[in-house]
Amino acid sequence: MNQIKIGRFIAERRKANNLTQLQLAEKLNITDRAVSKWENGKSLPDSSIMLELCEILKISVNDLLSGEVVTMENYNKNSEEKLLEMVKEKQKADKRLLQMEVFAGVMAGIPFAVCAVIGLTVPMEEWKQAVIVLSGIIPLLTAIPFLLRIEQVAGFYECRHCRHQYVPEYKPVFMAPHIGRTRYMRCPECRKYSWQKKVVSKD
Ligand SMILES: [Zn+2]
Repeated sequence: MNQIKIGRFIAERRKANNLTQLQLAEKLNITDRAVSKWENGKSLPDSSIMLELCEILKISVNDLLSGEVVTMENYNKNSEEKLLEMVKEKQKADKRLLQMEVFAGVMAGIPFAVCAVIGLTVPMEEWKQAVIVLSGIIPLLTAIPFLLRIEQVAGFYECRHCRHQYVPEYKPVFMAPHIGRTRYMRCPECRKYSWQKKVVSKD
């Protein structure tokens, strides 16, 4: 989204409708400073007032976000570009999430390993052993639901049989046997079980 272009477009449409910044602001119950910020490309209108703003400026939300009146000719191209941009953003966010998962997994795994080694190798009373092992298990148990949540929502799982890519429910992800991120789950498309790989881009 091009904020500068959107800002210029808002100014252009406001003037075309014979409104001052103050008049437009009053109609929307906001300050004229906010309008000025949009028009200078410093901020975007809040989504809660976008519909009303578009109504006043006599444009569609698609026009507003494109920074121009969208004709049938450029409509498809525009919406495709916007869609592509959204997909790109999602993929970037998914990659970051999966990297974070590894990091969080390691952070929870280290105390577990340390406590397990100490608890099981250093001679001490049994109750102390139990306390040490437990205190290593707790961070791991706390982290696991978060880690699984990330695996569920980031990217897609791909069926080995029909190559169908999908976002599964939390429960099958939780229940499935897995090796790393590859999980043995049932494909919702062909209903067959397979070891499904995690993929970030859908194709
Ligand atoms: Zn399948």
